[in-house]
Amino acid sequence: MNTSDPTSTHTSRYCTHCGRALKACLCATLPRIANPTPLMVLQHPKERLHPKGTAHLLAGALELAELRVGSQWQEDEAVQQFVSHPPCYLLWPGEGALTLDELPRERGARFVLLDGTWRKCYRMLMENPALAALPRVALAPRSGHYHIRKAPFAGALSTLEAGYHLLCEWEQEPGRYAPLWDLFVRFNQQWLTFSQVNRGA
Ligand SMILES: [Zn+2]
Repeated sequence: MNTSDPTSTHTSRYCTHCGRALKACLCATLPRIANPTPLMVLQHPKERLHPKGTAHLLAGALELAELRVGSQWQEDEAVQQFVSHPPCYLLWPGEGALTLDELPRERGARFVLLDGTWRKCYRMLMENPALAALPRVALAPRSGHYHIRKAPFAGALSTLEAGYHLLCEWEQEPGRYAPLWDLFVRFNQQWLTFSQVNRGA
């Protein structure tokens, strides 16, 4: 949706919803998906307007997803509320992380995703004991389709992909999230088009 005021030269080139340049904004094309499993996406401030970031698309497309920007969550009531109601899991691959099929099929399961570079997310975790204390889960290994941004490690996924795979694996109803994958495909196509234009192709 383009809600910016066309009479204002200052804001008219930017989406008032996501803050991105209108030519890079996908707000008008966001699906609205009723996801039974709530997600909380904690975004490092440096990531907020990163042109290749995808967390705002994930959160914008899901009814039960909240995107919060910051790095300190000890005083954040919404985050503390969310993480203090088990079963709550942190998507964080690594030693000790369970795969989704190892989790008990409890009602009300919810997941926290961190959005930022690996280093910034790691620091966020270290500085927020309530997050660090959450049981950790990992997605089944797969190769990411996020080729437009240098991946910090093999199999690294964009936040939009991670959320998509998480919900599909957990709920086992991938059809519900097909529009989310379509959104990811459009996002990638948009970037490939930009880079071709910039290379003069
Ligand atoms: Zn927008």
